[in-house]
Amino acid sequence: MDTAPILSRLRQIVGHECVYTDATATAPFVIDWRKRFHGQALAVVLPSTTAEVAEVVRCCQQYGVQLVPQGGNTGLVGGGVPDASGRTVVLSLRRLRQIRHIDANNNTMTVEAGLTLAELHQHAQTIERLFPLSLASEGSCTIGGNIATNAGGTAVLRYGNMRELTLGLEVVLANGEVLSELKGLRKNNSGYDLKQLFIGSEGTLGIITAATVRLFPLPTAYCTAMIEVASPDVALAWLHALQARFDDRLTTFELISGRCLQLVQTHISGARVPFHAPWAVLFELSDGGEDAHLEQQLLEWLPSAPRYGEAVIAQNRKERQALWLVREAISEAQSCEGISLKHDIAVPVSAVPMFLQQAGDKLRAAFPDCRITAFGHLGDGNLHYNVSQTGAADIYQDEPRVNRIVFETAYQLGGTLSAEHGIGRLRRETLWQYRSPLARQVMQQLKQGLDPAGLFNPGVLFPAQEKDS
Ligand SMILES: Cc1cc2nc3c(=O)[nH]c(=O)nc-3n(C[C@H](O)[C@H](O)[C@H](O)COP(=O)(O)OP(=O)(O)OC[C@H]3O[C@@H](n4cnc5c(N)ncnc54)[C@H](O)[C@@H]3O)c2cc1C
Repeated sequence: MDTAPILSRLRQIVGHECVYTDATATAPFVIDWRKRFHGQALAVVLPSTTAEVAEVVRCCQQYGVQLVPQGGNTGLVGGGVPDASGRTVVLSLRRLRQIRHIDANNNTMTVEAGLTLAELHQHAQTIERLFPLSLASEGSCTIGGNIATNAGGTAVLRYGNMRELTLGLEVVLANGEVLSELKGLRKNNSGYDLKQLFIGSEGTLGIITAATVRLFPLPTAYCTAMIEVASPDVALAWLHALQARFDDRLTTFELISGRCLQLVQTHISGARVPFHAPWAVLFELSDGGEDAHLEQQLLEWLPSAPRYGEAVIAQNRKERQALWLVREAISEAQSCEGISLKHDIAVPVSAVPMFLQQAGDKLRAAFPDCRITAFGHLGDGNLHYNVSQTGAADIYQDEPRVNRIVFETAYQLGGTLSAEHGIGRLRRETLWQYRSPLARQVMQQLKQGLDPAGLFNPGVLFPAQEKDS
């Protein structure tokens, strides 16, 4: 393929300095965060306006070149990096960074897709509002990527996923037209809610260029606690008891296994693990009052709480951060002990203890020396469930068997193979095994209807379609 004409046209659209082609400049855009997917790009293109994005899409359509949309490249399933063909263009949205509109009285903000999540938090705080999506990658991940992956995080229990936080979208379609539905409405039953198609579509149906998102009153009081519990069943009892007492003031509720506590204690210098126990829960209450009042309410309620062992309640912001560090450092601590096979499953909240029991029993029967590191958002039924030391010198040889046990157990309990990280390239074949033939057909019809030439994100969600050069 003669690439000169398309590169020349792309440079006309976005400017010479915003089309990268040499290996050094493109390197950070073609490898995913976990370094499992190494691709190559014809070019990395960085437009700065919606009009430029639309022009880039029209140009690529004209030359028959496929596009991979990319935000902060923090995705965990290889959805934002190109394949190895070197024939696709990476469309980076990082330069679309405008705050288009703030409506404090409507509790909404309209922002462009390349703004990072941390920047959105800061802008919301300047008008004393909260944007509640909270991820450890917030310094790098972008709002466009958050929407394309329907990101979750630690505050879903109270505020919902990115889907619940998104009121309007602007999307560049595969024909280069701009679908603008940036309304800040809580109610709008005027036909199909088109934005829902693009939320969680992982860049396969359109390029998200801007969004209107929901804001909330900024909490003024927090009460964060870590409690020792004997088992996941007791953790579940705690969840329900706290919800019954504090309702939606219960903002997060995380389950942490004893192995996680040990890993953090061993590998993370500066982390203070408050106690060792078979299981712990980390939860946070928040409201518009005062810290002391919230803590007082928790203390008064504790005598009627389900059984527990040790309990630590953060007394100030520093202690609160220290408790959260224990939770947030688990992945890093685990990586110090080598590669693990990671899963991000969800089951009904009521089935979490059953999942842990059944999956653990089956894995230990198949791989007697394996280690299981389980933690996650119990309030959402979402577990990060990582398996290491299966016995094979190369752990990836055991991956198909491990995955089958984990995913089949989740599905038998009414669950799913991906709760918040998505499908990307990593899970596309597995997705195709687990969705019903009819669901697959409907997905293909949607793809065909919105992107008939297969322009956007080849090989993500759907098996790759080879294109002739
Ligand atoms: C340390 C760490 C912690 C994390 N914690 C969480 C967590 O708690 N919960 C969670 O849900 N995720 C988590 N993630 C995963 C990741 O941060 C999220 O998926 C995030 O939403 C991705 O945003 P991004 O801008 O980096 O997107 P990218 O990685 O660039 O892209 C992700 C997908 O979205 C598509 N895409 C990106 N931008 C656009 C756009 N503008 N239009 C259309 N498609 C687009 C890409 O093609 C790709 O398929 C974590 C990641 C890391 C590294």
